[in-house]
Formats: sequence, C-alpha cells, structure tokens
Amino acid sequence: MDTKQIGLVIKSQSGFYTVQTAVGQITAQIPGRMKKKRQQSTIVAVGDQVTLSINDDGTGKIEEISERKSVLARSRTSAGPRSLTSDTEQVLVANPDQVIFVFALKNPLPSLRKLDRFLVVAEMNGLPAIICINKIDLGQIEKARKLFRVYTDIGYDVIYTSVTENVGIDVLRARLQAKISVFTGSSGVGKSSLLNAVQSNLGLQVSSVSDATGKGMHTTRHAEMFPLQGGGYVVDTPGIRGLALFDLAPEEVDAYFREIAPLVPNCRFSDCTHKHEPGCAVRTAVKNGTVSAARYDSYLRLREEHEILEQSLY
Ligand code: GDP
Ligand code: ZN
Repeated sequence: MDTKQIGLVIKSQSGFYTVQTAVGQITAQIPGRMKKKRQQSTIVAVGDQVTLSINDDGTGKIEEISERKSVLARSRTSAGPRSLTSDTEQVLVANPDQVIFVFALKNPLPSLRKLDRFLVVAEMNGLPAIICINKIDLGQIEKARKLFRVYTDIGYDVIYTSVTENVGIDVLRARLQAKISVFTGSSGVGKSSLLNAVQSNLGLQVSSVSDATGKGMHTTRHAEMFPLQGGGYVVDTPGIRGLALFDLAPEEVDAYFREIAPLVPNCRFSDCTHKHEPGCAVRTAVKNGTVSAARYDSYLRLREEHEILEQSLY
C-alpha cells in the first residue's frame, strides 16, 4: 500500500477517526504534536478531507487537514459554566452543504420556537436550511402550508413529506443528492422512517448512532456520516439537538433573523433593543404584518435568554 492516502473522515469516536480512502476505510489517529498546539477549532471532525500516512499495521496517522469550506460549529463549553468568552469553536461537522430540520405536522406537534432556534444555528453557521414537515397524512396539507408560509415568505425551503403515504420522498431524496446534509429533529418526528424511505436501511444506521450517544456527557464526541447511493452523505450528530446557542450577545440575535436584520439600520436608536423604543423599525414591521408576530416573539425570547446569560456571567 502507498504510504500516503487522502480521504474523507466519515466517523469520529473517542479519538479514533474512520477515513474513507480510495483503498478502503482506514482507522486513524491524530499525532500528539498536533494536539499540543493551541487550537482555535476542533482539529478533526467528520467531513474533513485529510491526508494520512499509513503505519506498518495498516492504521493511519492524520498528517494534514484540508481547509474547511463550511462548518457546523458551536463554541466549546468546557466542563465549567457556560462561557461567553470561549475562543475555541467546537466543530460538529466539517464541510456540510446544508442542514435539514425535520418536524412532524402532528404527533408530536411542531414547536415553532424550536424551529426558529434551529434556524438561528443555521444562520450563524452560514448554512442553507431546509425545513422538512413530515406526517402530512395526519392533517391537511393546505393548513400546513399556511402554518409554514411565514418561512417560505422569508426564503426558507420547506418540503412536505409522508412516509406512510409516500409523499415527497422523491423531493427529499433529490435535496440530499450529492450533498453533505446534517439531518436532525426531535425524536418521534420520523427521521429514521424518512431516511429508510429514501434508501433502505439508511435510517436504521443513522438512528443507531443517536441511540448509542443520545444521552450523557459525550454526546458531541461521536458523529458519523452515511453515504448515499449516487453521491452525498447524511450526517446526524446528537450534538445539534441539544444545541444551545453559546457565545451570542443579545444584540447579535438580530443578525440571525433574516427578515429582522435588514430593518435594524432603520431604527431611530442605534442601540435599539426592539422592545419598547420609539421609532423602532422592527416593531413597526410587526405591527403592519411584514414581520410575523410569532417570529418576533421567538426573537424576543431568544434575546432575553441571552441577556440573562450575559448578566449571570458579568
Ligand atoms: P425518529 O425518532 O425521528 O427517527 O422517528 P421514527 O422514524 O422512529 O418515527 C416515529 C413514529 O412515527 C413511528 O411510529 C413511525 O412509524 C411514525 N411515522 C414516521 N413517519 C410517518 C408519517 O409520515 N406519517 C405517519 N402517520 N407516521 C409516521
Ligand atoms: Zn428597533
């Protein structure tokens, strides 16, 4: 075997990385000298393109990591209390193309607060988001479209699916094609069923990762990508599901509500909190219906959470 190989990290667990190369899968580790350097970011994550040197026993040593074109990251929270000052980003997935948030129309009912929070995570990471509404057989599609129109109006891609009635599965499969997609949502919304419908056994493989690591301390240490026939990968990382938003100052929340951000420069006061100030362009937009009241409510809640967080730290 050649002594150098390039490949894609498809699994990360407790310091061992599974790398897909032209000659098959190789288990690799990071050499100690790389770990000693002060890191600004997770050294290796699933989705990274790496160069390996091959040891005599067939295992690999990661020598080089290609520059990432995108990340799904959060800041490292370390063991202690949440820190707003952390400067290390914790990369859950390297080079993702998009994030797919799955909700059910019913059983369980969708939480739009949670969706808004997920969308902030996507915006913070600069990743396109797809909203997948599953179990549309349990309700009326027209009502569903109305409920989620707020999101299509502000430019998000919303797709509707039913596994039991085989609706929208082709659409989902097409969205996944040739991309690295982070696929996530609360348990019970039908993620495994959807992935199994897209490709046999895919959902089973993905859910076994979540089950093994869905609870406990080290939920973000394990991540795995699953190849799609015809190209692309689906990745589930339990890390994103419990994702709290760290390192976000209250006034930064503005930037991640895409319909609110462009209004902010029109507020009379540059430090407007958009809660009670006169001449607030955001509140005006809510009043005349160009910004949805529900989204504004999500915005306020998230902002308040971060105000409390900030006060508790300083
Ligand atoms: P996960 O926890 O998100 O992976 O969800 P599962 O795929 O395990 O599905 C949870 C439950 O919802 C199971 O009982 C599925 O049979 C059911 N389910 C999944 N998709 C649909 C759907 O499109 N319509 C209906 N009615 N039930 C579904
Ligand atoms: Zn304002």
